[in-house]
Amino acid sequence: MSAVPACPQCAMENTYPDGEQYICPDCGHEWPMVAAAPADDADNAVVKDANGNVLADGDAVVLIKDLKVKGSSITLKMGTKVKSIRLVGGDHEVDCKMDAGNFMLKACYLRKA
Ligand SMILES: [Zn+2]
Repeated sequence: MSAVPACPQCAMENTYPDGEQYICPDCGHEWPMVAAAPADDADNAVVKDANGNVLADGDAVVLIKDLKVKGSSITLKMGTKVKSIRLVGGDHEVDCKMDAGNFMLKACYLRKA
């Protein structure tokens, strides 16, 4: 992807990149380049629960829906409490230690207890 997008303001195509942004010389509009989601930054990403509360290591959370564990017959029940979570990077960013075992869950299915 090397093409510079046309100006969103005036639709002219004389735009050019300048550092972190694009500039349109025709109307003077400047706008930020849309950063591609950097996968490597997962460790630094803020993890939020279903209500938008920021989660941290050691937080207690509650499942807000039944979750089937892939590749097993286990279903984690809604309302199950996890005493101490651990945040990890990746798609399933919350490591939950439960009676049934250790599970990687998505933060969007959890609520801070
Ligand atoms: Zn323009």
